[in-house]
Formats: sequence, structure tokens, C-alpha cells
Amino acid sequence: MDAIFRQVRRVQALSVRSWPFWKLPRSLAAFVAAVILADVAVLAVSLAATPVRFHDLGIFGLLLACNAATVELTRRTSEPEGHVKDVHAVWELPVVILLPLPYALLMPAIRVILTQWRIRHAVVYRRVFSAAAIGLSYACASLAFRGTARLVSGLHPLRLVPASRVPVWLVLVAACAVVQLAVNQYLVFAAVRATSSEIRLRDFVFGAQTLRTDLTETCMAVLSTLAIAISPVTVVVALPLATLLQRSAVHSQLIKDARNDSKTGLLNAATWERGATAEIGRAVRTGTPLAVALLDVDRFKVINDTYGHLTGDEVLKEIAHTLKSMLRQYDLAGRFGGEEFALLLPQTRAPDAFRIAERVRSAIASLPIIAPGATGGERVHVTVSIGVAALDAGSKREYAELMAAADAALYRAKGCGRDQVQMISTTRGLSAVSSIPRSGGEGHAPSLFRRAASS
Ligand code: GH3
Ligand code: MG
Ligand code: MG
Repeated sequence: MDAIFRQVRRVQALSVRSWPFWKLPRSLAAFVAAVILADVAVLAVSLAATPVRFHDLGIFGLLLACNAATVELTRRTSEPEGHVKDVHAVWELPVVILLPLPYALLMPAIRVILTQWRIRHAVVYRRVFSAAAIGLSYACASLAFRGTARLVSGLHPLRLVPASRVPVWLVLVAACAVVQLAVNQYLVFAAVRATSSEIRLRDFVFGAQTLRTDLTETCMAVLSTLAIAISPVTVVVALPLATLLQRSAVHSQLIKDARNDSKTGLLNAATWERGATAEIGRAVRTGTPLAVALLDVDRFKVINDTYGHLTGDEVLKEIAHTLKSMLRQYDLAGRFGGEEFALLLPQTRAPDAFRIAERVRSAIASLPIIAPGATGGERVHVTVSIGVAALDAGSKREYAELMAAADAALYRAKGCGRDQVQMISTTRGLSAVSSIPRSGGEGHAPSLFRRAASS
């Protein structure tokens, strides 16, 4: 019997030693542990100071059931691996505002356990850290609300709000929701920052998509808090609304995934092709000019071989960023796969298209990309070749013809030495206007564009 217990203890000790937590860098492990301990300490102290009341337990149970329903909903509608914005605040902000502090700390812990069990098994310390960071941010929001509610308006936070005080109350609840978001984001940012010094707080918190979804979720959470403060029965009405909000978050994520290239954020090939076909049809019908430009990174294989694929990916992202920043709102920029990009420039005559392509080429050639790693600090010299085909006003060409012309121009740019723009104006047949050829011209393998144009 003793031997069995000893064996069990050894297996337990081994499995604790194999936790991924112990492999974390020391500073990150210390930060994660400090956040978790702080959360447990606040929970213990607040539990000891809070009397149990059936009314509180009832509301907590109701909101917990709604939260569990939202977890189930996420399970059924989202990609198992994808991170999709959730709407848990709709059920958790009312707990923070309307119930004593321990409930606000317990709710995210239970929700995270449910998520781990029902949706996806993540590394355990990450889940525990996430629950602790949310718990601490709820504690800050809860204390902030109790302090200010009494100070500013003499409102008792746990009782029904008189109608005349609702506007003040709403502003306070919204302000506390913002406090909660800020504390939580900061704790998560600090943990991410401990592993990568490149990430900036601005990019982490203020992405357009993040702000939009956070704002929508917060508004809905403030509304549900008010409704539940008036009568807990209103969850019956709030549940379908929260369901709809969750679905729309998943829906917009799926649309984005289907439209965009995940590495660069540009349109993917299929979306670009659909948009370009429609634009070309419109240009032909209305007799307006239009141009396409096909862009291929020069000797990208050498960049990969010299600096590694991660630097190669960084080059692709920097090129995409340059394209986005240089083009107009209504231009279409897409990645055709690999190191090949396509631009569609509506309302653009041949000489202007050439000028734009030349500006893009020159901007990319001066990108200050530095390769990290063994060769450390070395500048990666990136150039691109661009083939442009223009549909002059009144010309009647189709997508495939225009793409074939642009690809022929690109082929010529490669053959004439790379790092240059070549152009073919379709009204003048396949006669080319070219930039100054550089040395080192040689053949270029048929590209994806050629295949796309002929398919
Ligand atoms: P050229 O000047 O003739 O265009 O030469 P090239 O080396 O750019 O052309 P090639 O088509 O031979 O090489 C393209 C390389 O791009 C090969 C492939 O491994 C690499 N590649 C394709 N997709 C990606 C990607 O997403 N990331 C990285 N890092 N490399 C990629
Ligand atoms: Mg290529
Ligand atoms: Mg290439």
C-alpha cells in the first residue's frame, strides 16, 4: 500500500515539475505569481468581511447561469483555435456593480474554468493569470464605484437607483467599466511586455477593432447593469441581445478572416480578384481610366536564405504597410500569395499609374528593415519589380487581359535587371514604357499572376 502511495506522490511531484510555468523567464514568472497571489489575497480578505445574503446569492446564480450560456454559445459558433471577442462583461459588470466584492472575484474564476473545460484547453497558468487579472481589475472597478457613488451622489450602490439619479449613476458605471478595462489591459500588457519588448501599449490597446468591440461590449454591459438593478427578471430580455452581440462579433471576425490575408492584412487573392473584376467592368462601362500593378519582391528567396523566414515575413508586412499608407482609400491592395502583391488603381491614367508605381518602388527600396539574430543589426536591402498595365479611357479590356499585360510588364522588369517599373498601356497594344533598366537582367519564373490571369 505504502509503495502505491509513494508511486502516486512521485508521479504528482513529476507532473508539478513539468508545468510550463516553471519554464517561464524569471521576471515573467514573478509577475504572474504576484498577480495570482494578489487576487487570492483580495478574495480571502473580502470573503471574510462579507456576510452571506440569499438575495446576493440569487442574483449571482442568475448572472452565472447567463455567463455559462454565453460560454456555451461561444463553443458552438467560434473557431476552436481563434480568439474571438466575447461579451462576458454583459453579465460580469452587473456583478461588479450590484454585488459585494467577493462575487466580482469569483465570477471570472468560474467563467475561466468553464472556458477551459468547454471551449479550449489552454496552458493552465495562462488561464489562472487571466482570471486573476480580470478579478483584480473588477476589484478596482468595484472599489472605485463604491467610493465615488457615495462621494458624488450619496447613492447606495447595492440598492435601486431613483429615476432622477439614473444619468449620474450611468456615468459612474461607465467610468468604472473603463477603469476595469484599463487595469485588465495593463496587467495583460505588462505580462506580454515581459516576454517581448517590441510590443507598444498604444498598439496593444488602441487598435481600431479592439476599441470598437470594447466600446460596444461596455455599452451593452452598462445597459444590462441598469436593467438588472431595476429588476433581475430583465435578464430574460438581455440574454437574446447578448447572444446577438456575441454572434455579430464572431461574424465580423469570420468575414475579416475570409477577406484578408492573415500575414499582411491586405485583401487575399480571391477578394482582390472579385473587387478588381467589378472595378474593371465599371471602368469599361463608364469609359473611365484604370490601372493594375503587379509587384514581386526581388530575390526574396535569398532574403529568406540569408536572414531566415521570420525576417522574410517581416519584409512582407513592411511592404504591405507601405502599400496601405501610400494608396488612396478606394485603391485595392492584395497579396496574391508568396511575395507577390497586386494593386488596382481606379480613375488612374497610364502616366499617373506609372508615377504611383515608381513612388511605391522607391519607398520600398528605402525601407529601414533591420535583421535581428546572429548577423544582428544588419540592414535588409529589399527591392521590388513592378509591372503596370493601364486601361485608358474608352478601352474595352477584361480582367484576364489586363492581368496578362501587367504580368508581361513585370516579366520584363525582372528581365531588365529588377528594382524597376515597366508599363504596358493596353490601348497601344503591348508596347512598353519603361524606367531605366539596371544591370543583372535574367529570366523570371512564371508567376502566380500569370496563372491567375490565364485561369
Ligand atoms: P525573383 O527576383 O525572380 O522574384 O526571385 P525570388 O527569389 O523572389 O523568387 P522565387 O519565386 O524563386 O522565390 C520566392 C520565395 O518566397 C520562395 C518562398 O520560399 C518564399 N515565400 C513564399 N511565401 C512566403 C512567406 O509567406 N514568407 C516567407 N518568409 N517566404 C515566403
Ligand atoms: Mg514570385
Ligand atoms: Mg520574387
